Amino acid sequence: MEGGAYLVIALAFGLAGGIVGRMKGTSFWLWFAISAVVPFLGLLAALLYRFERDELRKQCPRCGKVVMLYDALCMRCGHELEFPDVAIEPESVARARGT
Ligand SMILES: [Zn+2]
Repeated sequence: MEGGAYLVIALAFGLAGGIVGRMKGTSFWLWFAISAVVPFLGLLAALLYRFERDELRKQCPRCGKVVMLYDALCMRCGHELEFPDVAIEPESVARARGT
């Protein structure tokens, strides 16, 4: 690929990643840098990162760590997790309400 064209693509992805990063309340420049350095993966990571914050969560019954609803194992204590009766609201919702 020609150098100039790559620069344009990198900047475009950087901008897109930065805007996504900004929307989810983190650093524009952090995600701009990540998306510009690794254009496709960086933008994908920015999008997925935001997505995870909108997921329902649950609490590990053994150690109390809050994990993603779809996690089968607790990341802290290794406890095998079942689908809970009560899910915890997504982080993005909790944050929007100011709790
Ligand atoms: Zn646990």
